[in-house]
Amino acid sequence: MKPLLILLILLSGAVFFFRSTLFGQGITTSLAFNPYNNYPVYQGTDLRVTYSKTGTTLKIWSPPSQEMKLKLYKTSTGNDMTEEIMCRKDADGVWKAELKGDRKNTYYTFQAKINGKWYDENPDPYAKAVGVNGRRGQIIDLNETNPSGWANDKAPVLNNATDVILYELHVRDLSISANSGIKNRGKFLGFTESGTKNNQGQSTGVDHIAELGVTHVHLLPSYDFSSVDESRLNVPQFNWGYDPQNYNTPEGSYSTDPEDGKVRILEYKKMVQALHQKGLRVVMDVVYNHTGYTHNSNLDQLVPGYYYRQWEKDGKYSNASGCGNETASDRAMMRKFIIESVIYWVKEYHIDGFRFDLMAIHDMETMNQVAEALHAIDPSIIIYGEGWTAGDSPLPEQYRALKRNAKKMNGVAVFSDDIRDGIKGSVFDDKSTGFASGAKDMAESVKFGIVAAGEHPQIDYSKVNSSREPYTKNPAEVINYVSCHDNNTLYDKLKISRPDASEEDLVRMHKLSNTIVLTSQGIPFLHAGVEMKRTKGGEHNSFNKPDSVNRINWDWKYENRELVAYYKDLIAFRKAHPAFRMQTNEMVQKNLVFLQTNDPQLIAYQLKDHANQDDWQQILVVFNGSGLDKNVVLPKGRWKAALQNYQFKDYQDTKSDTTRIAPYSAMVLYQE
Ligand code: CA
Repeated sequence: MKPLLILLILLSGAVFFFRSTLFGQGITTSLAFNPYNNYPVYQGTDLRVTYSKTGTTLKIWSPPSQEMKLKLYKTSTGNDMTEEIMCRKDADGVWKAELKGDRKNTYYTFQAKINGKWYDENPDPYAKAVGVNGRRGQIIDLNETNPSGWANDKAPVLNNATDVILYELHVRDLSISANSGIKNRGKFLGFTESGTKNNQGQSTGVDHIAELGVTHVHLLPSYDFSSVDESRLNVPQFNWGYDPQNYNTPEGSYSTDPEDGKVRILEYKKMVQALHQKGLRVVMDVVYNHTGYTHNSNLDQLVPGYYYRQWEKDGKYSNASGCGNETASDRAMMRKFIIESVIYWVKEYHIDGFRFDLMAIHDMETMNQVAEALHAIDPSIIIYGEGWTAGDSPLPEQYRALKRNAKKMNGVAVFSDDIRDGIKGSVFDDKSTGFASGAKDMAESVKFGIVAAGEHPQIDYSKVNSSREPYTKNPAEVINYVSCHDNNTLYDKLKISRPDASEEDLVRMHKLSNTIVLTSQGIPFLHAGVEMKRTKGGEHNSFNKPDSVNRINWDWKYENRELVAYYKDLIAFRKAHPAFRMQTNEMVQKNLVFLQTNDPQLIAYQLKDHANQDDWQQILVVFNGSGLDKNVVLPKGRWKAALQNYQFKDYQDTKSDTTRIAPYSAMVLYQE
């Protein structure tokens, strides 16, 4: 054997050893400061309640505990403890309790004694069922939480990730308005109601979403969060829910009975089943990056400090979430917790995708392992997240799941704030405008979005608003959007930034904005209600505002029926044309060519040669972001318009070699 070869083998062995020790195979070495390196890692996948009719086993991980109590209760809040059991210490920091007989529906808490101090009672972080306000876990038989037909529940077929069209929705907003015509207002069960109508007789709820033609409903937090008091549901309360309490159980306030942990599970599954039956897939917004409570969270009460990052200089909890803490995905047991949690939601609840809040708080290795684990179960599961943090983190930038590191992740997409702000102006400055609202310096940012934030010879990256280089390898790695639950709605932003514009022009800008999104390469994302000109009255941070600000008002659907119809046509148009859904950057580079318009308010590009096997040989897309009519010189050949002045129609052949495009509008022409 040659010395070089021996050296290579030794080196690859060293790399393997480094990887396997760093990433969860025995010790807790992590990527950021970690004072808990001496804690053992538990490799088993049974940290949970394992129920059977003859006995129940409960296991919890807490290396620093000197003692661990398990307390059993009759009800979810009452002063009715029936038993107190001292758990037995097991290997690798695990504590275990074995209960004989059928303990179904019993409530429980754990209590840890650390450094001589008894901490608060809490359910285990892995709890799959909890009572009201998530303060006690519940031993249940999960088989009893399956709706009829659950074994045959299947998500609609999805061929390619670029076929996805996301619709971001808050559970309560969909149905809380009386004019939704929905009985189970504000509940998971609201999604199971079909045939519901507004006062004008138009469809509402899931029927509306299905008719719109989107493929995925992305739900704002639907796991158990702490900000809504589940014991006072007669009082209207609203919160987005970015304050996780129990990650592996649904939120109680969206159920019809938060006391009984089984009810919310059954009703959540009924929601997923109903959406699947309507041809819609379901994405969960997950917030593993921080918890609602810090020192009072079940994570911190059972293993103080371990699940959160600290600053090395003073040991204080860091706060990259801006919400008081940040979790430590780079520590083995937190990473394991995240991975097992998403797998659980897929297997138990048939979830089809995950949106990671402030994903850059997580390390890339965790995100890659999440994607690998989920895609091993089902390659059509989509995973995407916000490639940024809300504050500084002890996790060095090189490890963060940042937008600019997206190329180093596989099967994980990131939101494009470049196209978002390029189209409508910065979210940090209400008054700023974007390409669709008349800005003269945003065309390059929009073009960067059109090519799905990838490598393209015609993009001048130095002119893109917030990126200096491509960050995707392929189009499915970027989420294109112009508005979401955060910040002003699209309509409010346009109105605030263009107080001079007529209502008619605002609607044109509105249409132009999402026409750009829905014709761009990548995965398009719509904020629920945008198709009916959703407004929050200029409220840019509505996380805890009343229903009157947040709810979907189903009268809007009638008032803006022409806009709703346009969105429907636009979505159908994207679905009919694979040219807008290319799967590789190579295809985009080969088939998408920008025309020189010599006008910063005019973008034109061609999709060539039956791109992605499109029926049309050539497609020409033109966007006019100015308030004036513009002339466009057409490339050679006889062109036919498919979209003009926001009307999809069969138009006559264009005889001339130029065409006019109306102010703030989009045009699509083609050659068969
Ligand atoms: Ca809750």
